[in-house]
Amino acid sequence: MIHNDIDVRHLFAEGADVITAILERGMQVYVADVDVASAVARDRWIRCIDEGTPGGLHLAGSGILLGENWEGSLEQAAEVVREMDASGVSWHRGCGAVANFVKAHNEVKDDVDEVAERFARELAVKVTLPCREQMLMRPEGIHIARAAYYDGAGQFDPSRVEGLPSGFVISRRYLGKTYALKEAEMAVGIALGHHGFGELFTSKQPFLLVAVGGDSGLERELTEVAKPYGRRVTVVSLG
Ligand SMILES: [Zn+2]
Repeated sequence: MIHNDIDVRHLFAEGADVITAILERGMQVYVADVDVASAVARDRWIRCIDEGTPGGLHLAGSGILLGENWEGSLEQAAEVVREMDASGVSWHRGCGAVANFVKAHNEVKDDVDEVAERFARELAVKVTLPCREQMLMRPEGIHIARAAYYDGAGQFDPSRVEGLPSGFVISRRYLGKTYALKEAEMAVGIALGHHGFGELFTSKQPFLLVAVGGDSGLERELTEVAKPYGRRVTVVSLG
């Protein structure tokens, strides 16, 4: 378990050189030396946007925040999952998106993990796909994301490539702009909040919002998300 301040600072320091190199050289020059062509997911299972659930295609909390309520979210998530041509639905413990849903819907009294599993299972039944728990591949209780990848291409997986910062992945290709930006805002909120590196992000070591897919429109969308944080959140493009 990594919770104490020294360990968190140590983890943050470990990833600092990569961020410095990206900012000094520019993202597009930096990735020329990185095997970015390998950053492709190997399967099409739905996973959370959490940096601890890499690979596949992404929907925060399996899509639980897509609609106004449980039924509405199920309905919309089913539509997106079909559009993605996904091969399964997963959920994970300690999900920030599901916690946000529970907080916003007081009638749900169950614990967050139970709600996460129930939503994923109901969604899987709706779209006739298998469902499973996705084990969390980050330290429990702390988000170590340095970035959020805003994926206009569709199956981007930074965890497969040495040299790309750990990050959330938002499957922008399959999502409407308004909802995709909501996921991006949530990612920044988690990373810069007390479940993430928080105040360790500064103008010199900012959180990165990374446009993936070469569409300059994506960078413009992300600029709005970054604005309230000043220089602690920086938009870059993978080109
Ligand atoms: Zn999650």
